[in-house]
Amino acid sequence: MKKLIRDFNKNPNKIEYKSILESNFNEVKYCKTCNDVIFYYDSKFKLINNIISLIGKNFNTKKTVFGVEYQLLHCEDCVRFKIDKAKKLNRAKWFNTSNEVSSFAFNIPKNIIDKKNQNLAVTLENMILKYGKQEGSIKWNEYVEKQRYKNTFEGKQEKYGWTKDQFDCFNKTRSVTLEHLILKHGDYKGTLKWEEYLQKQRLTKSKDYVIKKYGMDYWNELNAKKTHDYANYMRLYKEHDIAIKKLEDFYSTFQKNITLIILVKMIENMEKNYLMVDGFG
Ligand SMILES: [Zn+2]
Repeated sequence: MKKLIRDFNKNPNKIEYKSILESNFNEVKYCKTCNDVIFYYDSKFKLINNIISLIGKNFNTKKTVFGVEYQLLHCEDCVRFKIDKAKKLNRAKWFNTSNEVSSFAFNIPKNIIDKKNQNLAVTLENMILKYGKQEGSIKWNEYVEKQRYKNTFEGKQEKYGWTKDQFDCFNKTRSVTLEHLILKHGDYKGTLKWEEYLQKQRLTKSKDYVIKKYGMDYWNELNAKKTHDYANYMRLYKEHDIAIKKLEDFYSTFQKNITLIILVKMIENMEKNYLMVDGFG
């Protein structure tokens, strides 16, 4: 028995899990979707004084929301197959937060999940509920101050090494362009689009700047030598989105001075014709 469990824990798989589970446990519950055992990447066994118990996720795993217990009803394979979000999320995070993954896996009603998320949002009210009136207010003020600092000159200088001029440009453009995008797409999507736009601009402007300053030959040479161009990245990463992202990463870190000058230039440009942002949405 000891050896069986040790071997299984070293190399866990669904078939053996099922056989050990069924020969040692009564009233095993099965996946509501596929009727097979509820098996997850961390489903294992433990043997203490010859008593076998379950560790990791299993048919007895429960999640408590607002004092109500919900039982894990679906196996990992079925969760991944049925819920798109599960494919994008690291599986260690599936059940950390109240999301549609745990909603499905534990069959928690959507309105309960929404209510839970509302409670998790950082608001003064929630802080007070969680920490009491005095400490909640302090924590809330700290949070607000931290968010505010992120967008001050000191914050930007600390994080990106901006000069005062760069910061002023940033602020002017931010007020025009970001507001425009937020009006059009809403808070969250608007901000995302603005960031995407900045990234895109940074990439083209890096290229323009290098060509203008050092010539096309230098640019070609740089690309040939370092192979940091779209075609090469596509060969390497196979997918358009990943290739673009990797290129952006490369050019945004490559020669920090260049990108900072570009940022100022780009912002000046955007100020002149911020309406071109329209074409982006
Ligand atoms: Zn299943």
